[in-house]
Amino acid sequence: MFWQKEIETQNKENLRKFQLECINKQIALARNSQFYKDKLANIDKLNSLEEVRKLPFTTKQDLRDSFPYGCLATDLKNVVRMHSSSGTTGNPTVIFHTKDDIANWANISARSMYMAGARNTDIFQNTMGYGLFSGGLGFHYGGERLGMLTIPIGPGNSKRQLWFMQHFKTTVVHILPSYALRLSGTIKELGIDVKKDLNLKIFFIGAEPHSEAMRKKIEELYDVKAFNSYGLSEISGPGIAFECPYQDGLHIWEDYVYPEIVDSKTFEPLPDGQEGELVLTTLQRQAMPLMRYRTKDLTKIISEPCKCGRTHRRIARITARTDDMMIINGVNIFPIQIEKTILSVPEAGKNYIIELFDNNCMDKLRVKIEINNETFKGTLKDLEILQNKLVNELKQELDVTPVVQFVESGSLPVTEGKAKRVIDLRTKK
Ligand code: ADP
Ligand code: ZN
Repeated sequence: MFWQKEIETQNKENLRKFQLECINKQIALARNSQFYKDKLANIDKLNSLEEVRKLPFTTKQDLRDSFPYGCLATDLKNVVRMHSSSGTTGNPTVIFHTKDDIANWANISARSMYMAGARNTDIFQNTMGYGLFSGGLGFHYGGERLGMLTIPIGPGNSKRQLWFMQHFKTTVVHILPSYALRLSGTIKELGIDVKKDLNLKIFFIGAEPHSEAMRKKIEELYDVKAFNSYGLSEISGPGIAFECPYQDGLHIWEDYVYPEIVDSKTFEPLPDGQEGELVLTTLQRQAMPLMRYRTKDLTKIISEPCKCGRTHRRIARITARTDDMMIINGVNIFPIQIEKTILSVPEAGKNYIIELFDNNCMDKLRVKIEINNETFKGTLKDLEILQNKLVNELKQELDVTPVVQFVESGSLPVTEGKAKRVIDLRTKK
């Protein structure tokens, strides 16, 4: 049983009181670090949560600049683990954990998985990368904490993944959405029937932006319920926010982090319901408390009560990471808009990439999409018609006319970790 009812349904006043107490403790602790010593020197105890805005923001660059130990707030003898962010957008940053940090993180991970329906009778196959990346070990500890048989298989080797799924009757899988699509190709290739030959029930999909269309596709392909899982290494890793059975936004664990949404340009706090950048202040971290960490992820807070009865507010699906925004001749575009459109076309296959290039001093956008050999049996002429159709649909969605090119199934590059969707070939970037 891992339904932490008292915490998860705690009344708002008590929750806010608890958050304020935690923030004050975190401020005192953070002052031990080289990085926060001066930054927090003039900040006294906060008297209300509104005063959180007096705290300084912390950015990924700050963490990089204080490499390696500048943000460490405790004696090294208390530190038992380090992780590092996957470095999708630059040099990695390092994050430290004490024993309690690991235990608290396992706790919110187990709570998240239980919320989605996982139980100690489940067989849990964790296909996320183990090692410095927090995705693997984070949910590994959570899975064990929940009492599931946890298979630390890690990423890649699709045939082996399926062999394990068949022989151990895996019911719960933690997977990157891009890999889930790819793995389904191997299922077809091997002639496996997901309903008859596999026992899958629940997927946790996260660690990279994905659209609702992508979730639906994964649910169909595997005959499972797929739950959106959000987290970032700086705040520990997966398990920070997670969907409940209503799949209508992700409960952000407010006993673990204090969330704010700020305007992504002015950094002024925005009210619940308005979209902006998610900012998180840790509430329980011992080795590395972080004040107002700017995630660069765009979302909004949903404060309306959830049907499941949990009082922790929800965040909407992450629409984008500000770093991923592409500016094409002055128009802002996010990869997820392209993904949504591609997935509405049945002839589109498992993988796509977006290339940006110059043409006569103008930016151009090219979308290369693998063809789905099962659903497309047409001629070259049919392919041209399909390409034109997609150009029009993308133009509607993006306000930019792209070049669309269908390519052979399996011909686009794949990465073992998070998908790299955008290749910028422009000389002037
Ligand atoms: P890196 O910043 O190097 O990618 P992390 O592995 O810590 O390092 O990745 C965290 C980031 O991954 C988040 O800030 C967010 O941009 C993205 N992410 C994680 N989970 C999700 C999710 N469910 N939906 C969208 N984006 C996600
Ligand atoms: Zn809920």
